[in-house]
Amino acid sequence: MTRLLLIHTGGTIGMAPTKIGFAPQAGVVEAAVAGLSSTAQITVISLTPLIDSANATFADWNRIARTIAQAHDLYAGFIVTHGTDTMAFTAAALCFALQGLRHPVIMTGAMTPLGQPDSDGLRNLTDAIAAAQTAPPGIWVQFGGRLLHGARIRKVDSHDPAAFAASTSFQPPLHPGTKLTRHDFAAAEIAMLTVAPGASRALAAALVICDGAVLRVFGAGTIPNDPVLAEALHDAQKQGIPIIAVSQCAQGGVHLGTYAAGNLLVQTGVIDGQAMTPEAAFAKLAHVLSRPVAERPAALSRSLCGED
Ligand code: ASP
Repeated sequence: MTRLLLIHTGGTIGMAPTKIGFAPQAGVVEAAVAGLSSTAQITVISLTPLIDSANATFADWNRIARTIAQAHDLYAGFIVTHGTDTMAFTAAALCFALQGLRHPVIMTGAMTPLGQPDSDGLRNLTDAIAAAQTAPPGIWVQFGGRLLHGARIRKVDSHDPAAFAASTSFQPPLHPGTKLTRHDFAAAEIAMLTVAPGASRALAAALVICDGAVLRVFGAGTIPNDPVLAEALHDAQKQGIPIIAVSQCAQGGVHLGTYAAGNLLVQTGVIDGQAMTPEAAFAKLAHVLSRPVAERPAALSRSLCGED
């Protein structure tokens, strides 16, 4: 019998109503799994405390990665139940963190808690358990009937059961390696910054006090022609603060160098995030900043798990 490990971290799928809104409740996912007639033997472990994924931190990413790595050789596949709000960050983070994975890791969750009318939880859970037995090695998100690339997903709907979208990639959601190596995330202050018309001062201030930044630029890669922003980008370059540019557009990505209005980004060594999602760019910076300084440029300059 195929052995699977389900790691429950929290999120709507295992929530129950409280006076102040839905909150995680122990036992909900365990009861649902116990009621399934699966051909696989499923062990469920819950990470404590169960969280709304709004509260996920690098420490939570490390806990999930560590749990998978420690059990890697004992199970044929893994399911991670997780809140949808930051699932895109965690899925990308696991892609970077678990190098040389040899089994599928299927993340899933729900928009409506198990046990509530019209819950999508049971379907997603059942689909994820099936995918954990058939998907290629890597970090995948099974949601709303689709299996999606973990380093390329975005939550695109805050209500609909088909809450996620992902572009495809020739590279699977897997950081290749000859043996399983876990890369922990170290504490880092990573800014997620969005350029907007005429609003450059606060953004410029943030750019020079962080360890790294995701810069959400206009279209194919343009920013306002503002001397304050220009000075901050030059300062960040001098300080060795890595900045990844990603597009505010949902599709198409950035192509730095297309417009003169984006030339400053090229001049100041901002990394072309291509089609990377903001979430994947954030997780990549978190990963790269956790590696020795000498390894950082090479890791930033190439695709590690199909993220771009
Ligand atoms: N707030 C919830 C979470 O991300 C939303 C969900 O799971 O759908 O944990």
